[in-house]
Amino acid sequence: RPVLRLILGDQLDPQHPWLAEVRLDVLYVLMEVRAETDYVRHHAQKVLALFAAMRRFATRLHAAGHCVRYLPIDAADNRQGIVANLQVLAQSLQAVAVEYQQPDEWRLDAELRLWAQAAALPVRTVDSAHFYTARDGVARALAGHRHWVMEHFYRRMRRQHRVLMDGDQPAGGRWNFDADNRQPWRGEPAPPPDPRPRHDLRALWATIVAAGVHTLGDPQAHALPWPLDRTEALAQLDAFIAHALPHFGRFQDALSARHERLFHSQLSFALNTKMLRPHEVVARAEAAWRTGHAPLAAVEGFIRQILGWREYVRGVYWAKMPGYTRLNALGHSGPVPAWYWTGETRMACLRAALRQTLDGAYAHHIQRLMVTGNFALLAGCNPAEVHRWYLGVYIDAFEWVEAPNTLGMSQWADGGLMATKPYVSSAAYLQRMGDHCTGCAYDPKQRVGARACPFNALYWDFLARQRQRLAAHPRMAVIVRQLDRMAASEREAITRHADDLRARIDTL
Ligand code: FAD
Repeated sequence: RPVLRLILGDQLDPQHPWLAEVRLDVLYVLMEVRAETDYVRHHAQKVLALFAAMRRFATRLHAAGHCVRYLPIDAADNRQGIVANLQVLAQSLQAVAVEYQQPDEWRLDAELRLWAQAAALPVRTVDSAHFYTARDGVARALAGHRHWVMEHFYRRMRRQHRVLMDGDQPAGGRWNFDADNRQPWRGEPAPPPDPRPRHDLRALWATIVAAGVHTLGDPQAHALPWPLDRTEALAQLDAFIAHALPHFGRFQDALSARHERLFHSQLSFALNTKMLRPHEVVARAEAAWRTGHAPLAAVEGFIRQILGWREYVRGVYWAKMPGYTRLNALGHSGPVPAWYWTGETRMACLRAALRQTLDGAYAHHIQRLMVTGNFALLAGCNPAEVHRWYLGVYIDAFEWVEAPNTLGMSQWADGGLMATKPYVSSAAYLQRMGDHCTGCAYDPKQRVGARACPFNALYWDFLARQRQRLAAHPRMAVIVRQLDRMAASEREAITRHADDLRARIDTL
């Protein structure tokens, strides 16, 4: 009579304490279920990469002597739900107990907790042993503050975990090198070659299609470019540290039509599936600075994303769920443009970000925040719909990290808990940070008229609509004054043009 231990698709950590010893009274259970493929329409690469990585993980566990039960998506006895399958297995094997690692998503956590309360056998949970902080770590650190400023939390984390510290001072005398990290990329230096592996997964893809799973985007099943295990993830990390990290900071916010990835790591899939631990990624980056391989500004910029942002958004999620995904502080109700699912728009920056997303299940942070996110916010799209889009399209999209980024940081749907001011910009920012405007059908200098870049009228119209709210913010006040100085006729023309753009949004 075994103990069943559930391993979810984003818990592929071969170093988890569970696996330190082989126990013949333990049966590890992994399953591919429709409940997970269907709660939102996912990118084909996400389903393919997760299933392939789960299969490989199960094979390795088995080879190491562990007992494993793997339920493929097309198994006749697959009930297509995690709890439903667990229930049947527990009964048929007369399990003595069920154990699971804390899920990262509220949805699954609630489902398993509910089941555990009513189950006829003991159900226990253990930590996934992945994050630096507990679920309530951010809430405790920032309790009592109206705005949960990431920077406060991040500095605590640096001190507490002794990352980039010289004694009790931040290395280099500064906590933050953002000011050094905002350069556009003009072609030099050349980004390193893509270090990711390629996998022929056509057979698995045929199984997924035959099972009736609906996906979006290009599966790239003949050469899927994502790591499927820890060894491949470590190789990708090595290549990033060696070749891209030294330039990461400077070009962190850059956009380019000539290069999709620039100096980003593309490690989010490996991190979010727990093939890699955040601690080891942070330690490798810090060592690169301490040995003189990479400058401090680059290393601090990178570490901030993982030790700071990644832990912080997880804490926001657990503090504010359930309910966070329904927030809509600005009352936006517009549809997400149809071309978010096709990439067919004449706006060059959006076209590039969307095509790359659909082809590769990846866009870097500034594309997500200042191109697709910025546009959706300015256009007044319903944040719940925007959230569902982001939750589906990216290889790394799991709700605990996606929802705060989308609803809080990008769409300001939480009314400023995460971001003191909305991340919005006109075409001027996009032109400064990128090169898409050259050759675009729209003119970044014009505010109204057939050729005017839609970002402009939508931006000024957004500011006008949110004037009251924004005028109080010190960094927005200058821009609000600029709006106030505009002639009434110009403001009216902008409003008319913005209304027109929203009315024919699918044609832009
Ligand atoms: P790099 O730029 O190389 O950064 C290194 C690592 O830092 C990333 O792999 C990631 O683990 C972490 N990181 C960086 N920024 C953030 C952040 N803001 N929040 C949390 N972790 C961060 N990230 C996801 O992992 N899943 C998502 O579903 C997701 N959705 C997003 C939606 C929106 C609207 C926005 C604005 C951001 C979203 N992000 C998400 C955060 C960020 O854009 C991605 O983590 C990053 O682009 C992944 O690419 P990379 O691995 O090349 O990152």
